[in-house]
Amino acid sequence: ELGVESPIIVASSRERSLLHSVQDMGNTMGLCLIGGLQKPLRLDSLSAILRNWGSVADKRKLAAHALPITPDELRTGIDRGEIVVHYQPQIAVTSGDVHGVEALARWKHPTLGIIQPDQFIPMAEEHGLIHKLTLQVMNEAMLQAATWNAHGLNLSVAINLSPMLLESPNLLQEISGLQQCYGLRAEQVVLEITETSLLRDLSVALAVLTRLRLRGFGLSLDDYGTGFSSMQQLARIPFTELKIDRSFVHGVHERESVQVMLRSALEMAMRLGLNTVAEGVESLQDWWLLQEYGCMFVQGWLMSKAMPATDVMHWIQSHEGRKLDFRAQGAQAV
Ligand code: C2E
Ligand code: MG
Ligand code: MG
Repeated sequence: ELGVESPIIVASSRERSLLHSVQDMGNTMGLCLIGGLQKPLRLDSLSAILRNWGSVADKRKLAAHALPITPDELRTGIDRGEIVVHYQPQIAVTSGDVHGVEALARWKHPTLGIIQPDQFIPMAEEHGLIHKLTLQVMNEAMLQAATWNAHGLNLSVAINLSPMLLESPNLLQEISGLQQCYGLRAEQVVLEITETSLLRDLSVALAVLTRLRLRGFGLSLDDYGTGFSSMQQLARIPFTELKIDRSFVHGVHERESVQVMLRSALEMAMRLGLNTVAEGVESLQDWWLLQEYGCMFVQGWLMSKAMPATDVMHWIQSHEGRKLDFRAQGAQAV
């Protein structure tokens, strides 16, 4: 009747952290938590939750609906230059200053509009298109960084590297070539590798990443907390930055068990001398907690979603006025 294919859970608890755990459990089991109820069960509160579910379910069905795109179309799109780069700011937690941006690929499809990377990066990886796509993203992002440099805006630029590219023999020359061509300092360019990708072949990853590091590039371990990297692996690869996954950041101020994990990840990174970035910051309360825990940089919708390069300058100007609010309120809260 609810129009969902998988079963749903109505958990009998109002305790938020417990509900979060039930939600996580449900997600891993393919179930879906739609709300919390107190015992004894009341028909009116159950009806309210089910009514609310109707609209959420519709939105989810739309989002889950795979787009009608083919690998050939993606190939043509890449050749026609339809892959564009949006930039999401990274902000220093204590000062509120803009420190850098992450370059995120978007596909400007002629009829479907802007397509998000989750819909086409896996396809690009599967059909041998990721190399060409990444070179385009790197070229555009480094050119943009050079343009900002010329305007006196020194931003680091983070670029996502697919694990497959680590096996590509020319990668090192290609990245260095672009960085030199645009006159960037190597430290200005940060290459992000997801934690899960390290598990593919650690020795290959180690060789390429060490060479990149020797040339001065920044190396960030992306989505930290979603894989199972050991301390030993972390210590062997010369990362400069630990980027903590959104699942340990979003709503952390009301999730006590997650606070413990977040805090220990930040402490470990600090001891290893790494920069720390928290992604997925959507509330001031989470920002304040990150400030209290000593996280260095934050990235998230609280500050801004990823945006086209043309909007970045204007956003930075408007952020100047807001950043004092973050700092002042954070100082009071801690
Ligand atoms: P990622 O590298 O972990 O990038 C962060 C993702 O989190 C981005 O999604 C960003 O828009 C989203 N995000 C940032 N702040 C918030 C927040 O406060 N709340 C929520 N809910 N989300 C937030 P996006 O742009 O859809 O990218 C998804 C993933 O696609 C990226 O995850 C990255 O793994 C991959 N990707 C994007 N561009 C490229 C690329 O050029 N090459 C490769 N290999 N992968 C890419
Ligand atoms: Mg990333
Ligand atoms: Mg990430």
